[in-house]
Amino acid sequence: MTAILKVKDLSVSFNLRNDVFDAVKNISFEVDQNEVIGLVGESGSGKSVTAMSIMRLLPEPKAVFGPESQILFNDQDILKLSQKALTKKRGKDLTMVFQEPMTSLNPFHRVGNQIQEAIMAHQNLSSIEAKRQALRFLELVEIPHPTRLYKSYPHQLSGGQRQRIMIAIALANKPKLLIADEPTTALDVTIQAQILDLINRLKDEVGMSVLFITHDLSLVRKFSHRMVVMKSGEI
Ligand code: ADP
Ligand code: MG
Repeated sequence: MTAILKVKDLSVSFNLRNDVFDAVKNISFEVDQNEVIGLVGESGSGKSVTAMSIMRLLPEPKAVFGPESQILFNDQDILKLSQKALTKKRGKDLTMVFQEPMTSLNPFHRVGNQIQEAIMAHQNLSSIEAKRQALRFLELVEIPHPTRLYKSYPHQLSGGQRQRIMIAIALANKPKLLIADEPTTALDVTIQAQILDLINRLKDEVGMSVLFITHDLSLVRKFSHRMVVMKSGEI
């Protein structure tokens, strides 16, 4: 197995007004190709900070990476990439689904167009072809009446449907790694299971790895190959 992601000696601190807070302390783990790794730990243990470090979405320079830190994605250190190179990777090879989809969807744009735009941002396709693919992803995430739903606005959908839209956007460019940060915590239990089953099936269809973050051990047991447990910023 080859690792698609190697987190090595990652430390993250936040510069506060009169203090420095060490949120992540020298952690290392790997994610193999096509593997689902569960990242678990109590609230505040550093799971989201780890995820946001991999995406390079933390507010720098308030957030500071320790000098030893490396995040190798396909052997390329994410911590050394330029903003331009990062923009190319994010949403393409490397994507993330958050707990609350409403914060990531644009309330004023039709959901189908948001998938289409995600595709066009990373692939050189005509808008007709991008729309065709966006529809295909709507079908793939098992939204009823995809053609009709394409034209809906986020507030017209249920929480579970919005999370499916976020997954469609995250997968639309066939990423190598999906980071799912508590993707179902805001949903009720039956919908949770459906969404996780869906991610699991799409993983094989797209051929990606998943870093699945949750505080729910029973979900990790069901959906991951291995797990990494965090506590107080350490593994
Ligand atoms: P969780 O495991 O629940 O996802 P987080 O990774 O979000 O925990 O947070 C880990 C710790 O880092 C928490 O104590 C949190 O308050 C702190 N933290 C996260 N983001 C910031 C930030 N932008 N500025 C200061 N502290 C932060
Ligand atoms: Mg979190």
